[in-house]
Amino acid sequence: MTRALVATGQDTLDVMDVELRPLTPLDVRVRVAGVGVCHSDLSMVNGTLSPSYPLVLGHEAAGVVTEVGDAVTGVESGDHVVLNWAVPCRTCWFCTRGEPWLCSAIEGLTGTPGGLLADGVPFEACLGLGAMAEEVVCPATAVVPIPDDVPLEEAALLGCAVLTGVGAARNAAQVQPGETVLVVGLGGVGLSAVTGARLADARRIIAVDTSSGKEALARAAGATDFLLADPTLARQVRAMTDGRGADKALECVGSAATIRTAWTAVRRGGTCVVVGLGPRDQQVTFNPLEIFHFSRTLTSSIYGNSDPERDLPVLVDHLRAGRLDLAGTITDRIALDGVPDAFERMRRGEGGRSIVVFPRR
Ligand SMILES: [Zn+2]
Ligand SMILES: [Zn+2]
Repeated sequence: MTRALVATGQDTLDVMDVELRPLTPLDVRVRVAGVGVCHSDLSMVNGTLSPSYPLVLGHEAAGVVTEVGDAVTGVESGDHVVLNWAVPCRTCWFCTRGEPWLCSAIEGLTGTPGGLLADGVPFEACLGLGAMAEEVVCPATAVVPIPDDVPLEEAALLGCAVLTGVGAARNAAQVQPGETVLVVGLGGVGLSAVTGARLADARRIIAVDTSSGKEALARAAGATDFLLADPTLARQVRAMTDGRGADKALECVGSAATIRTAWTAVRRGGTCVVVGLGPRDQQVTFNPLEIFHFSRTLTSSIYGNSDPERDLPVLVDHLRAGRLDLAGTITDRIALDGVPDAFERMRRGEGGRSIVVFPRR
């Protein structure tokens, strides 16, 4: 039996013992060391997404491999690994043209069969992982080995927030040295987007949030300016950029209002990237003349437009070289039963990343 955080329905969370599914020859078992509380976990229980329940939450994790299936190669028991929640098939139309984040096999996936609850009811594992649990059984293709000297709790963040945020800046927005980058929404992903802009040598990074409490975290991640979200935001950004607007904007909220604001704050010919996962019951409106006149690009970033096998090792190098400070992003270390409170902090827009840590055995 494994302790796990189970969503039995919308907004109903319980810590309980579950029986993980048996290993197939292509699976591994991982003892989870740390798992981040990501906004997508909240989206699984607040009605934004419609997964099947019961669902073991969690997809941003790192741990130690404790068992490998007979046909597994390249991963061994004892390896430290980051979990990857979007395993591309490598054979579909998107994968073969180098866009594995758009893989047909994972499009719209919210969970896969994870095992049985104590009463025999089958549960799903969130995004194929269900990592808010002491242990995970997942395909070997869903783990990326990392060096043993990387702290596992920090490495957990690489698997979602960092890959998503840094990838949004580097892969999706293609931030260039010297550019001005606007980042709206400073949760775990937004702070990582600030970091990504810094790693890409942006000259000016304007970070925006509704909470002034985010300023110190933003500046630690590399923001040069901090603004409170405000109806005059786009005007303020233009005033800071000789009237032009930012070269790139990274919208890390996923709401119609912030998408519209971020797009408006971008210069003519600039790019606005939607990183936040938003609801389907809002509309963003543009008039035809402004679309023509401003010649801006509006696009999205899915999992940072990353290939985890290619991009995770690069992030690990940044972490080991001290260019990524993830310890500073982790503001709350909690147990499984602390996740509902972490969701509340997220709803209130407080703090950086909360991470569930498991006692070492
Ligand atoms: Zn996530
Ligand atoms: Zn594919």
